[in-house]
Amino acid sequence: MDRQTEFVLRTVEERNVKFIRLWFSDVQGFLKSVAMAPAELESAFDEGTGFDGSSIEGYARVYESDMIAHPDPSTFQLLPWRTHANTARMFCDITMPDGSPAMADPRQVLKRALGKAADMGFTFYCHPEIEFFLLEKLRQGDFEPKPLDNAGYFDHTTMDDGTDFRRDAVMMLEQMGISVEFSHHESAPGQHEIDLRYADALSMADNIMTFRVVVREIAAAQGIQASFLPKPFTDAAGSGMHTHMSLFEGDRNVFFDAADEVRLSRTGRRFVAGLLAHAREITAVTNQFVNSYKRLWGGGEAPAYICWGRNNRSALVRVPLFKPNKQSSARIEYRAIDSACNPYLTYALLLNAGLDGIERELPLPDEAEDDVWALTHKERHALGIAPLPRSLDEAIEAMESSELVAETLGEHVFDYFLRNKRAEYFEYAQQVTPWELKRGIGRI
Ligand code: GLN
Ligand code: MG
Ligand code: MG
Ligand code: MG
Repeated sequence: MDRQTEFVLRTVEERNVKFIRLWFSDVQGFLKSVAMAPAELESAFDEGTGFDGSSIEGYARVYESDMIAHPDPSTFQLLPWRTHANTARMFCDITMPDGSPAMADPRQVLKRALGKAADMGFTFYCHPEIEFFLLEKLRQGDFEPKPLDNAGYFDHTTMDDGTDFRRDAVMMLEQMGISVEFSHHESAPGQHEIDLRYADALSMADNIMTFRVVVREIAAAQGIQASFLPKPFTDAAGSGMHTHMSLFEGDRNVFFDAADEVRLSRTGRRFVAGLLAHAREITAVTNQFVNSYKRLWGGGEAPAYICWGRNNRSALVRVPLFKPNKQSSARIEYRAIDSACNPYLTYALLLNAGLDGIERELPLPDEAEDDVWALTHKERHALGIAPLPRSLDEAIEAMESSELVAETLGEHVFDYFLRNKRAEYFEYAQQVTPWELKRGIGRI
């Protein structure tokens, strides 16, 4: 038995833990959880815990529905909001009964991509800026969002519930071993942002899953509603999950070059070139809902055009230069991602897109210096700046022919994802919306 497993067993006993929740993700990034009694723990570590995969989105294949969850002891944490009976959680890796990895498990998709990076000598670090909305609590069947406050970007508001909310969220995250760097009010009414301190991509994807639960739990305790929907309001900015990324070789940040104008090494430039080259293909995953495209194309500093720039907030990839001479903080920021993505699949694709740029030594296009939104279509065309997909439909089409996405996700997740998203778009496309009726009835 390894030390981590021993530590978990000892802690469960010493802290009188009554329930252990086994967590994993479905293909769309919705958290699944099963609670286990402490008496089952040792055998769960030895052999895993069986469950019926056929009822879980993306796992279903009726003839092979038995699956096994193997808890990862390094992810053991007590859940601070479960105060009546001590409860802990661990993330799981899912296998088939014969021990082979379950093809539908997003955590394993990311692990595969990280394995490839490791073979090239790289560790992949990420930190996200997570935006979300706090809304008045909705009654069952009511979907009209009402923001909790009327404040704006960085507003300091003494009387607003959001300040206390952020304090509670940050404290609870820290209690669970998730470090927070910044938190502030965002630009839209009721919108907030919490930025997590960098970690390796697998820990970070787990942290993001935990973050969403923590934010929802605190909201529920305060009688309000939290939402990660990318664009709840037509007239206000949406919620992005910009992610800063770097590759390290041991202690050395391979994105850093002190001699370069934007402090970006050749490897860093190739990584960015890979991201730009594959941006259209990966958008169905980084922006996976019909609503995601309302954010991307709705202004509010969301990026819609494929280009890069230093401190250019209209660019898809930004090279932040806050501390230009500090090796360890050299990084690039990918801004399309929204707060409703599956973080495992998203980080796997970003990594593989960047690595492909490194492997194929792709040249980085010229930097975009203008606000690309303000350019005309012709000007953007002349600069070689293409748009991201304008809808989930377009994004699906771009993904369908992508070898990189098929290879990264594996055949099972790739096929399931496309089927699921085609169905979502088809259903949406059949809706007659209030917008059409308002413009049409009595006039057309
Ligand atoms: N809300 C914006 C987005 O959706 C980002 C705003 C910002 O952080 N500058 O991407
Ligand atoms: Mg920010
Ligand atoms: Mg922000
Ligand atoms: Mg940002």
